[in-house]
Amino acid sequence: MLAAARAAMNDAIERWANPSSPHAEGRAARAALEDARARVAAALGWTGELIFTSGATEAIRIGLTRTKADAVLVGATEHDAVHRAAPKAFFLPVQGDGTVADHALTGRLGALGAERPLVAIQSANNESGVLQPLDSLIPIVRGKGGLIFADCAQSAGKLPLPEADLISISAHKLGGPPGIGALLVRDLGDLAPEGGQEKGYRGGTENVPGALAFAAALEASRAWLKRAEDLRAHLDGAIEAAGGQVVARRSARIPTIASYRMPGMAASAQLIQFDMAGIAVSAGSACSSGTLKPSHVLAAMGWDERDVAEVIRVSFGPDTTRSDVYRFVDQWKRLAGEAKARAA
Ligand code: PLP
Repeated sequence: MLAAARAAMNDAIERWANPSSPHAEGRAARAALEDARARVAAALGWTGELIFTSGATEAIRIGLTRTKADAVLVGATEHDAVHRAAPKAFFLPVQGDGTVADHALTGRLGALGAERPLVAIQSANNESGVLQPLDSLIPIVRGKGGLIFADCAQSAGKLPLPEADLISISAHKLGGPPGIGALLVRDLGDLAPEGGQEKGYRGGTENVPGALAFAAALEASRAWLKRAEDLRAHLDGAIEAAGGQVVARRSARIPTIASYRMPGMAASAQLIQFDMAGIAVSAGSACSSGTLKPSHVLAAMGWDERDVAEVIRVSFGPDTTRSDVYRFVDQWKRLAGEAKARAA
């Protein structure tokens, strides 16, 4: 969490009151909440509606379950939160490089024959970092009279937002606190209302400290992203030179995430070894309660199950330094060398 976000949160907690209360303290909290809403929208360059939620998962759930669309189509590599919110949705395949092809989208929309389909395609993938070509996909959806939902949990605040109708965002992915996020909505008329807060589109006491910290995080400098890009490029090269495999190496990727395969060593064993060396990495999607389940993302990209089991995921944040990366590479080479010796 960025220092500016921590400071904003602590300050707001000192002044906490329920923004739905009519007393002076409540009115002040309401004003602070609306200030946070305007600042988050401005920082993102968003001119439509903004509903604060508890994070991207809730934003996705509201967007996909309250939609008035007559059919829902979701990308095969979407986050579990998307697949769970729309269990009956039609699937959109990805190519080996992790992206949705124009012709696949056109074909599925044609086969669906819906009048107003909702298509969920994420901006950046949370395992591979692959960026979907939304600039070319969105006009295809619009051409069929459809709406586009872009899960931007990984890219918001780092890259410009796509021209989508609905967008999910999570503050803890951009230096803000956990427990706050947003659903951006171009036209509230596309969603059925539910709940007593947030213009009737969400229920529950508003998280004013979280919203103010979210705004502060978005307003903080993004200079570290350039460093992350350099460090990721260095790491990609070092891993390849040491006999590893970079997931989606040739695809456009967000610089904050990468996945690497170490031939001959299970991801679970790598995780333990890296953890013992004081290095925190993940395997699979790692989002669900400490479980390591096989990656549906790599499977959708056509990866063999045995290879998938050897892939770990690495994230770069504002505090990641060059020496962190060197240390990681040293450990990676040591483990890969051990795996190779065992196989020989
Ligand atoms: N979508 C993507 C792409 C994510 O990476 C995540 C979190 O890992 C989510 C959705 C869920 O976000 P949250 O933790 O804010 O519910």
